[in-house]
Amino acid sequence: MGENSELLVDLKHKLCSSIDQSAEKLRMLSRDIWSCPELAYHEHKAHDRLVEFFTQETGWKVDSHFKLQTAFRATWEPSGNPQGHVINVGFLCEYDALPGIGHACGHNLIAEVGAAAAVGLKDVLEKTQNLPIHVQVTVLGTPAEEDGGGKIDLINERAFEGMDVVFMAHPSKEDALYLPCVAEHDVTIKYHGKASHASAYPWEGVNALDAAVLCYNNLSVLRQQMKPDWRVHGIIKHGGVKPNIIPAYTELEYYLRTPTRAELPVLKEKAARCFRSAAEATGCQVKRSQHSNDSNFTGDRRGV
Ligand SMILES: [Zn+2]
Repeated sequence: MGENSELLVDLKHKLCSSIDQSAEKLRMLSRDIWSCPELAYHEHKAHDRLVEFFTQETGWKVDSHFKLQTAFRATWEPSGNPQGHVINVGFLCEYDALPGIGHACGHNLIAEVGAAAAVGLKDVLEKTQNLPIHVQVTVLGTPAEEDGGGKIDLINERAFEGMDVVFMAHPSKEDALYLPCVAEHDVTIKYHGKASHASAYPWEGVNALDAAVLCYNNLSVLRQQMKPDWRVHGIIKHGGVKPNIIPAYTELEYYLRTPTRAELPVLKEKAARCFRSAAEATGCQVKRSQHSNDSNFTGDRRGV
């Protein structure tokens, strides 16, 4: 026990100093991704930059466009012919940005620390003889975390198969080892009404914008009865075409969040009543579509 923990402390020190030695090129990697923000599934330059980074490092096998166009995988395996189970340790890099405000969530830093941890661990494993365990290192580049859910795609593509443990770090405004998870439901609400000239024959129309506004207001009123750690926030994506046309179609996009999955259906049902009642009041048809499976996301989803 004592021997192993001493070994662990020693390995951690070596790992940290190895990362320190690579600090400048890691900083440049992060800087390049930061300077050229790309949206979900379109992170072509970030993908190429990370592929270039691992290709220039020695000993990595790099699969560009791994399973998804802007995902990648880099693997390092111990030399020789290790007997027994080889523990496959994974690190994740994210690198997509937000529309309009770039890397506000700091996914360039996720790419940097994922690469740093992987390169540091590989370096220390390579230089240490007679370790009691055998370890291989896998880096997965996981795109589309601001929209869509690239990790869900990669899980469906079995990209995580064979990995024993996977690490990722997300920047936060506080120093914390663990950021609480949030259960999240993304939903699009579509109201279908009937167009009509807004001045000549307004009574012939069924106003989908009124439905969208009522929906927005219903949800705003609901907030007083929500638990303090629930969140409902959204936008009107389509609000009509021209002022002189009664809008026939509107669309809202909302995120519903609760601290646990157990509470999410309660909030979803409350929100659904808000969607339906706006349709009922205006005579519109309402359709709902969710974007992906309800998921537990790490703390960043709380913030963006
Ligand atoms: Zn984030």
